Amino acid sequence: MVKVPVGPAIAGALWVVAFGCAHMDATEFPRLENEKQALHFDDKSGTLKTVQNKLCGETYEVSGDEFTVETTDSRLEFRDATLTALKVRGDALEAHYRGGGVEVQVTYTLRRDRHFAEKRLVLSANRDWGFRRIVLSQPRFAAPGLEIVRYRYPQFGRPPGTEPISTFFGRTPNGGFFTGVEMPFDASSLNSRQVVLSYAPSLKVKAREKVRCEPVYFGVYRRRAADNLPVSQPPIRLPSQKAQPAPSEVLPLPSESEAMVAMSSAILGPPRHGLVPMACGWHCEMEQGTYTEQSVEGDMKSLDFLAECGVDWLSDSHPWGGETEKMNALGAGGRYAPGALVRRFLDHARQRGIKVVMWPTMNHTHPWSAKGAPFRADQPGWLMTPQTLEGKPDAIKRRAGKANCFANRPFFEWLARVNRDGLATGYYKAWAMDGSFFGDGGWFTTVIPADCASAQHDHLPGDSNYACQRALDELISRARRQQPDLCIFMCRPPMDLGVWSLRDVDACFTLLETGTGSSNVAAGDAIRKWSRVRVHHHFFPHYMDQPLLFPSRANRKAPPNWPSGRLDYILPSALSCSPNLLLYLPTKTGIPEADKAEIRKWLDWGRRNIAYLKVRQDLPDWPAPGKVDGSAHIVSDQGLVFLFNPDKTALSGEFALTAESIGLKGEGAFRITQEHPAPGRAQTARAGETVRWEVPAQTAVVLRIRKAENP
Ligand SMILES: [Zn+2]
Repeated sequence: MVKVPVGPAIAGALWVVAFGCAHMDATEFPRLENEKQALHFDDKSGTLKTVQNKLCGETYEVSGDEFTVETTDSRLEFRDATLTALKVRGDALEAHYRGGGVEVQVTYTLRRDRHFAEKRLVLSANRDWGFRRIVLSQPRFAAPGLEIVRYRYPQFGRPPGTEPISTFFGRTPNGGFFTGVEMPFDASSLNSRQVVLSYAPSLKVKAREKVRCEPVYFGVYRRRAADNLPVSQPPIRLPSQKAQPAPSEVLPLPSESEAMVAMSSAILGPPRHGLVPMACGWHCEMEQGTYTEQSVEGDMKSLDFLAECGVDWLSDSHPWGGETEKMNALGAGGRYAPGALVRRFLDHARQRGIKVVMWPTMNHTHPWSAKGAPFRADQPGWLMTPQTLEGKPDAIKRRAGKANCFANRPFFEWLARVNRDGLATGYYKAWAMDGSFFGDGGWFTTVIPADCASAQHDHLPGDSNYACQRALDELISRARRQQPDLCIFMCRPPMDLGVWSLRDVDACFTLLETGTGSSNVAAGDAIRKWSRVRVHHHFFPHYMDQPLLFPSRANRKAPPNWPSGRLDYILPSALSCSPNLLLYLPTKTGIPEADKAEIRKWLDWGRRNIAYLKVRQDLPDWPAPGKVDGSAHIVSDQGLVFLFNPDKTALSGEFALTAESIGLKGEGAFRITQEHPAPGRAQTARAGETVRWEVPAQTAVVLRIRKAENP
């Protein structure tokens, strides 16, 4: 127990903050409350005592909501800290502690309408210190029928049990709670009914510098009928993985996924853009090196090709506009501005209405080219040298001492300024990042944490993983602040690190990164499956996934591989997943004019229906032979339902005109009209009724639902 302060610090405080009609009772413990959840705190220690789940009428007792701060030379346990102030202000409870020269401010926030609360610690000390590890809370939960499971994600080809993020689901008869740390590689654990929420910052901190720790969430949910449905769910193995990883022993229940995605959507915010069909220049037969007169003319023709397909965003085909040698030589005061050939390309893009992504890099001028090098050859102290290379892959060994450490303030400020120069040219409407904290092309960030032996950088010698992630978060946030309407999309490391590395981001490279294959039907099924993994297993808001269509054309000498045919299956598949699409197109080899027109038709359809595509509620079954899967996109009492039949025979799909099934609100009769493939088929059904619809073999059906005019 913490030492109780003597004196007036907490006497007479107003404990209760209530929304709506909640009553105030001066004898109760301090609490935060809204319509979904109530948190009660101990008035002696400032820690959480109970979580009341108002969605299902359950209460969970909590003990041990205590912090531990581990530094390089000391350890502050909660019991040794003194509570100096405790107050409820608005929708937040604030507790201040002091001990061992460290000040700890703990803030719990429960915003109106939210089904989750957040706890955040802010630390400062009266001396320079090394911040090795933090335990943010170690709550022990008690409730009738409670089972706590640990769910680890994102699943990639990692050894089982080494996935970097953990969410802990407390399952009870009618609902449950969920808790975890909002960061991509925490060090949390579960011991029976006690959850330890922790991570290893490995940071150097200056005296009086305030360190904002990563937040913890405590959320609640209610069980729903879908939790009990048997649902086809295929094993999780990426096409690029050779070995079959052991499937996670624990999968989230539908109601748990739904609660997690509702939380990540609230934290990361709603979509900032409309339909964003983006071509990936690298994979679209465009210049990957430095422009010549000839290659820039060729790429301008590629822009014409994209415009004819209705594609109006382009992710640059080469980092820093391909000006690798210029970036290698950029010095202390060097400013970044695209050269004449790059500007000619960008001017042409502007004329064709194509918005181009600025593609900078974070620790190497071109990680995918032999011409690339670390930035700032005049600053050898800015390089990253791992403490050990033992057991590390060759790609990391090759980069050791030949890439910058991203967690080094002087380098970071220089690179941030160079990025600022690039955006200030006004040429770019979007910004992206790719690569890894090692300076190679990617792949290893989740499997092998970055380490750097330098004692001069922002991290403690050794583990620099979190310090690098923090630097990336800050670079993204600065780009967002400089140009608030920027479209920010991430490849690696965030595509491997998952949802908590996507603050200020609009879209993230999808799991099916190798491109789709020769059949547009199989491709459509794979696109929908992997987008479901992103949402239901990795808790991405669906609009941050970026489904990828068509085979790569990164190798321009490869034989043509355009999968002509069944564009009316792959395109609705991708549009049903997310308003962000990434396209690999043979912009130089070309495709039939009819295929260009078909792509343009579906993208125009997506632009007209964007309000519906920004929401998504999946029907229970996953894409699989013998099943009809699909998704609903309803705003209030109207919208769209997609049904997909991967099978070689016709099958019937079904959904109910309810909020539970498709998110539909409203009473009375609804008209359901088929828009694709053969327009005109229609039926009328009343709210609450189940609709059955025949879906021809290997076909996508698009239905429009609206209130019947003459019910
Ligand atoms: Zn370093």
